Amino acid sequence: MGAFELGGKVAVVTGGNGGIGLGLAHGLAQAGCAVHIWGRNAEKNDRALRVLRATGAPAEAALCDVTDPRSVEAAFAAALSTFGRVDGCFANAGVYGTTPRSFLERSIEEWREILAINLEGAVLALQAAARHMVERSKRGDAGGRLVVTSSLASLYGTARNEHYGASKAALNALARALAVEFARYEITANAILPGWIETEMTQALVDNQRFVDAVKPRIPMRRFGRPDDFAGIAVFLAAPASDFITGATIAVDGGYSVQA
Ligand code: NDP
Repeated sequence: MGAFELGGKVAVVTGGNGGIGLGLAHGLAQAGCAVHIWGRNAEKNDRALRVLRATGAPAEAALCDVTDPRSVEAAFAAALSTFGRVDGCFANAGVYGTTPRSFLERSIEEWREILAINLEGAVLALQAAARHMVERSKRGDAGGRLVVTSSLASLYGTARNEHYGASKAALNALARALAVEFARYEITANAILPGWIETEMTQALVDNQRFVDAVKPRIPMRRFGRPDDFAGIAVFLAAPASDFITGATIAVDGGYSVQA
């Protein structure tokens, strides 16, 4: 099997119907991987499936709210019954939360909402995947890939958005812990840290000239990222090329995090 060969492999991508998740899923599909995307919006799921199937790879979708354990269980069961196995799970679904505001004013309900989607949602998806992978491994079919979409906000002081930064820092810790626990089954766990990427989530920011003027000059590549910038990292982390890479946090940010 080639270093970047994904034919015969199956990946779940939560939040795979748009933005970065669709960029990940599209890269995987282009490399021949079957993809099972999860999202709450049926129309977005259908639109994404058309894009994914145009690659020739098998693609299916599930309506799933990752905060609901039964919904995640049903979506994972659907992936297994459709494709027979799951080799990779990309826990990517996430939200940025509401208007930035001081820590002093942020309600506990807002904290709980963001943690429920960004952290608990990833925990539920990765738990379902890890259970399946460990079981498979014990039957002599070792291996698996657990990936979280974290954020540079997990590293920086995200003033006035502490709940978002904290949810993403927890994902880095989760990926490292899973890397250690599951290495014996040849299951890797890694975190992708996007910089500023143009998606539905950031549309209002990238349409705001003051934001663009302040941020773009600090990105060495002098552009915001695009969903298709995530195709390569998805393939790399799913493929044999990254067999020995686990517990890593990998920035996809056009150099933003290393700009002095
Ligand atoms: P989008 O808003 O474009 O995509 C978010 C995705 O998550 C959608 O597919 C959405 O599907 C899904 N989603 C949200 N809530 C739930 C839920 N409860 N259950 C299931 N699916 C859900 O944003 P991005 O593509 O930008 O974000 C993807 C990830 O990347 C997020 O985790 C985000 O935090 C992270 N990120 C983004 C950055 C950026 O600059 N854009 C920077 C750093 C990190 P649906 O609408 O159908 O529910």
